[in-house]
Amino acid sequence: MTEPLVRRMREFGPTVFATMTKLAVETGSINLGQGFPDTDGPPRMLDRAVEAIRGGLNQYPPGPGVPELRQAVSDHRKQWYGLAYDPDGEVLVTVGATEAIAAAVLAVCEPGDEVIVFEPFYDSYTAAVALAGAVRRPVTLRVDAGRFTFDPAELAAAAGPRTRAVLVNSPHNPTGTVFTREELEAIARLCRERDLVAITDEVYEHLVFDDAEHIPLATLPGMRERTIMISSAGKSFSVTGWKTGWVCAPEPLLRAVQTVKQFLTFTSSAPWQLAVAYALREETAWVAGQRAGLQAKRDRLVAGLEEAGFGVLRPAGTYFVQTDIRPLGFDDGLDLAMRLPELAGVVAIPTQVFYDHPSRGRHYLRFAFCKRDEVIEEAVARLRSLRRD
Ligand SMILES: *Cc1c(COP(=O)(O)O)cnc(C)c1O
Repeated sequence: MTEPLVRRMREFGPTVFATMTKLAVETGSINLGQGFPDTDGPPRMLDRAVEAIRGGLNQYPPGPGVPELRQAVSDHRKQWYGLAYDPDGEVLVTVGATEAIAAAVLAVCEPGDEVIVFEPFYDSYTAAVALAGAVRRPVTLRVDAGRFTFDPAELAAAAGPRTRAVLVNSPHNPTGTVFTREELEAIARLCRERDLVAITDEVYEHLVFDDAEHIPLATLPGMRERTIMISSAGKSFSVTGWKTGWVCAPEPLLRAVQTVKQFLTFTSSAPWQLAVAYALREETAWVAGQRAGLQAKRDRLVAGLEEAGFGVLRPAGTYFVQTDIRPLGFDDGLDLAMRLPELAGVVAIPTQVFYDHPSRGRHYLRFAFCKRDEVIEEAVARLRSLRRD
């Protein structure tokens, strides 16, 4: 039989997360690779989901999402960011942020259109762009003064006559960077000048630390009208398995995304939607506690990794930390990631797989800290064996 997979998807194998999680299970290692929390979200929210199922919310909900969740998302955007989105026509519930990203790219890109993405990128972006038959134009985030950032000139140079959209993820996975207003302004300027659509992935909007502030790109001048703003309950409420996300966009853009979404999945699971609507309204204190707890976990892991001899880049948001492996005497993160279970009984993610220019990410490893304190402590104790004294 000839190769069954279409050409445009052949560069995509199993995701690195699946591969590394499998390695962790096979070797009995501590898994600081895949970014899922090992504790549950707010108990009352979980109860709401059970109640929704027992209460009979088990058939197709409306295509755009249950009205309670659309209203709650709209109120949440207003309350946190001063952004007004009409729950009828400007809010769409999706199967996680992942479906929202794919539907957005499929909705706005013709085959051959170009999409600017910052590398290292979240892995689903490249697949969504490929599915659309579009072409990715990477702009590299480079370390400067202890954080990953981009050169505005390089960003501007990435835009050409076929550029249609820019995909922006802040707080950024996998680097932990939270874009500053100045950085966002550079992106906004380009979008306005070149008439680009901005697709923003804001799933870590509530997971920012110290004095970092999450600023939605849509709040910048001239941006609301051209931005497809995406978020999800998975990271904010520690329910990555619920796959409940949403899109906010002005009506013409929202309608475009919904046109695609309705034929990917038609609608999204009903019971979670009521529970998430409740959480967006009532669990603000839980989210604040979660953020404080994660900041302490970040500090714990950062200190441990420094002690083990890694060069550590302290993240301003998300639940990931990037480390430079060169001080330990290694130079290839992929090689070290494959050997780390045997060397230390820990699994991490080689950052280079998120680049079109892997050499630029070759010496970084990503560790997740959304884990119980004792898990982080044990991982750190094991990693100390890497130390070169
Ligand atoms: C986890 C994650 C997603 C996926 O969100 P879901 O709601 O689970 O689909 C999207 N983007 C980034 C950057 C993520 O880390």
